[in-house]
Amino acid sequence: MPEPRLVENYHSETADARHIPSSIEVWDETLRDGEQMPGVHFTPEEKLEIARLLSDVGVGVVNAGIPVVSEEEARAVRLVAHAGLKAKVLAAARTVLADVDAVIDSGATHIAIFVAASHVHLKYKLKMSQSQVRAASLESVKRAKEAGLHVAFVTEDTVRAPFDFVEGLYRDVQDAGADRLVVADTVGIMTPLTFRWYLTEFVRRVRPKDLSVHCHNDFGLATANTLTAVECGARAPQVCVNGIGERAGNASLEEVVLDLEALYGVSTGIRTEKLHELSRLVEELSGIPVAANKALVGYNAFSHEAGIHTHGILAHTLTYEPMQPETVGRRRQMILGKHTGKAALVEKLKEHGITAADPLLLELLRRVKTETESRSKSDLGRFIRDYRALFERPGISDDEFWAMVAAVGIRTVRS
Ligand code: MN
Repeated sequence: MPEPRLVENYHSETADARHIPSSIEVWDETLRDGEQMPGVHFTPEEKLEIARLLSDVGVGVVNAGIPVVSEEEARAVRLVAHAGLKAKVLAAARTVLADVDAVIDSGATHIAIFVAASHVHLKYKLKMSQSQVRAASLESVKRAKEAGLHVAFVTEDTVRAPFDFVEGLYRDVQDAGADRLVVADTVGIMTPLTFRWYLTEFVRRVRPKDLSVHCHNDFGLATANTLTAVECGARAPQVCVNGIGERAGNASLEEVVLDLEALYGVSTGIRTEKLHELSRLVEELSGIPVAANKALVGYNAFSHEAGIHTHGILAHTLTYEPMQPETVGRRRQMILGKHTGKAALVEKLKEHGITAADPLLLELLRRVKTETESRSKSDLGRFIRDYRALFERPGISDDEFWAMVAAVGIRTVRS
């Protein structure tokens, strides 16, 4: 009798249903969408530091920002564009010629030109008709192509827009020279099954030369939807480190990459062992803490405390770990606490060449449990309250705002 496999792997059952492009190009949005997260701001030098690491890690495209946002933002984009990175440097523009020209001037080789597509955005935000959107898009794409840029065309809210309009618009901009088409689930309302249907239709009707997607996490589905998109042929999935971004954030770089690498065995060009370092850098510079239970880069992603789990891990890591922590540059942590079992203590003593008889071990175990159960939670409570206060008002305070109103000379007394 042959030895049974330790674990079954049913991913091979679905391999034929996947149309994953052979050369995935990870498109990072941390410095653009990530920075648009409330309270987040990167200096040009910080953007450069993150961009360098993104490039080292193996990201294909780095969106450095939107040059027309401010003079500092334009400087940041120039800094990143001229840093000699291996990654391609992209900057973003509305369908406004001044925006496109600012990207051309920045030195970025890639541009993402974006405009909204859904009726609600056209009617209430842009106050533009579909034909005006079409004309502005074509004009902007042509300008960028004439300047020799690689052009990605993006519509915001693609998946809530009329399909006929989307189809016509994307076909036209592609005919006008757009190199890559981006479908955006701007408010994160797709599910994997619906997105599969949508993208299959999109590919059939539009025939994109090169497809990218931009997924948001409002319903917690950004990573799942992005994986679905790659399965449908999207070559350049857009992601943010730690999943930061507007509102609930974007698909997370580390999750999308490991889904492809560890679950499907697809190469993404990413040096996954550097992902922990990248996560911590972005956590520090964005000021957005990584949740303890965040997949792959969360503080607890490779920690074990419960006796049954620790015992299993010590016997064979496959029992409770689907991958080795070193894959993403992490280390396994065995936590001693209320849920600890005897095996963890035996192992910890063994590491120091110590053995102990059962009665002493059981007494040691009782002390470990009692100690953690009796610890005060006041420090933790204070930390959580301070943490909340940071996020309840991350921007300019009311006091600061009214001081600025007075400083610029706006009359605050109603006549
Ligand atoms: Mn977005």
